[in-house]
This record gives sequence, structure tokens and C-alpha cells, in this order.
Amino acid sequence: MKIIHDKQAMRVWAIAEKAKGRSIGFVPTMGALHEGHASLVRAAVERDDVTVASVFVNPTQFAPHEDLDSYPRTFEEDCALLEKLGVDIVYAPDPESMYPKGYATYVTVEGVSEGLCSLTRPHFFRGVATVVTKLFCTVLPDRAYFGQKDAQQCAIIKRMAEDLDLAVEIVEMPIIRETDGLAMSSRNRYLSAEERQKALNISAALRRAQAMLAAGERDGAAIVNAVREGMAPLDIDYVVLVDARTMVPVDRICGEVLLAVAANMGSARLIDNIKFAVPQDNEAALEMTAKENVPCC
Ligand code: AMP
Repeated sequence: MKIIHDKQAMRVWAIAEKAKGRSIGFVPTMGALHEGHASLVRAAVERDDVTVASVFVNPTQFAPHEDLDSYPRTFEEDCALLEKLGVDIVYAPDPESMYPKGYATYVTVEGVSEGLCSLTRPHFFRGVATVVTKLFCTVLPDRAYFGQKDAQQCAIIKRMAEDLDLAVEIVEMPIIRETDGLAMSSRNRYLSAEERQKALNISAALRRAQAMLAAGERDGAAIVNAVREGMAPLDIDYVVLVDARTMVPVDRICGEVLLAVAANMGSARLIDNIKFAVPQDNEAALEMTAKENVPCC
């Protein structure tokens, strides 16, 4: 496994691999890796000829009051894990080379970027769309792997890839959870033991919503209220039911729907979601699209 910091060297490597007819799988990360990241890397290693993982804590997606400086950085451990998983290249550019003096270009994805996380983090998705575009331009991936954990981010990247005619397939992978149901996140390490215990209300509330859906509940407000009730001990940011592709709120469950939640816990902000699909021509035949995403325990 090679570690590349330099943009030009990264692109030269990618062009050479493509010339050999090899497909490039790409997993963009901010490091502090856990099993969630590892699941994306495993998928890339299995499916693509060569795999690149980036480790870059992207300054443009943090507001000045957010945790850019204190975001966990564990580069050596990350590299050891990525090597074990079979990654070929770790791409770790410097912030100064990504955003040199005079940098002025940003990517904004309209519509799908509105609501949910953008209400409290209005800067966030512009930063994400911009850095992902820049990374794609350097890594030249055939496929890029993202987690459903960040469902709005995934929908934005898919929209962006389609709108900008990017020659990359966006692969969305299921949420990986701790055995007690908590969705894995690099920021979970900010939680005290007490906060971590309280955070289990999130996956428990989503499990309850799932049971309601399985029992045939189709009223969006009933589902949202039940989740709010289950998360009541927490500082809730949002509980929303939206179209899974467009992020437009829905009242009745029909087609593919995303039930997404966010809550603040001390210095951490936790997000989680479930997706489900009800065939539009036969509402009674509820079909869970991602059974493995069901919060367990
Ligand atoms: P991050 O390092 O937090 O920017 O995440 C990098 C990628 O890993 C994103 O595509 C995330 O959606 C994905 N990811 C983070 N946590 C999980 C998880 N628990 N399960 C699956 N994918 C995840």
C-alpha cells in the first residue's frame, strides 16, 4: 500500500491504472476509521481492480464554531487498517494544496441539499459536494462508495454525479451498527458512558417506527410522532420523513421513503435513519429495502 499526499502524483497513478484497463474503486473518508468505513472499503476491494481510500478532514464543511480542530485524527491506525483491508493507495492531501490562497470555486447541489442537516449546518453540503468533486477529479474513480448513514449526503452525491455527467457510479452501502444498535460514527468517541447509553434511544425509536411500518402504519405524522416520543430524553434536531431520492417531506408512506433523525449529545451530533419502500401499486405489500440496516439488539 502506498500513501500519496501529492495531487499530481495521485492523478498520474490513476491515469496509469486506467491505461492498464483497471477499474478504480474509491472510498472518501475523514479518517478516524471504524467498521462502517471498513465495510465500504471491503466492497470496493471486492468489486474493483484497485482501491483508493482518501483520508482528509475537509475544512470547507465545518463552520467556524464546529469541531474542525478537535476532529479525531488517527492517521497511523487508519493506514494500518486500510492496508489490512487490501487498499492500494491512501490519498491524504494537505488542506493547503486542496484550498490554496485565492481558492474561489464551490459546488452547490440545489433542492436535495435543503432541509434536514442543512438547517443547522447551512455550510455543510456545499463543502462536501466541493471536496468530493475535487477528489473525483484527482482519483478518477469508476465507482465511489458512500454510507447510507449519511443518507442526505449520499442523495446529494448521486444527484451531483448525474447532473454533472460524472463518469462514476455511486454505490450506497448499508449502515453498520454497534451490537447494541448505535450507528457507528467517528464522533461516537466524544460521548461519555452516560451519553452513549442515552443515545440508544435513537436506534430504539427507529426500531419502533419499523415495527409500526411492518404492522401497516402509513400515516407519516404517526410515525414521526412515535419517533419523537422515543427520542424525547434527547436534544432533538430533527425527525423527518422524506422521499429517499429528493429529500422532499412526505405525509403518507408510499414509494421509497427515508425516516431520518438528528440529535445533539454534548459536543457530538448524532444522525441515524432507516429507509423503506412500499410498492406504489400495492401498499399492503410492505417491502423493507435494507433489512440489514434495521437497528438491532
Ligand atoms: P466520514 O469519515 O464520516 O466522512 O465517512 C466516510 C464515509 O463512511 C461516508 O460515506 C459515510 O457515510 C460512511 N460511514 C460512516 N459511518 C458509517 C456507518 N456506520 N456505516 C456505513 N457507512 C458509514
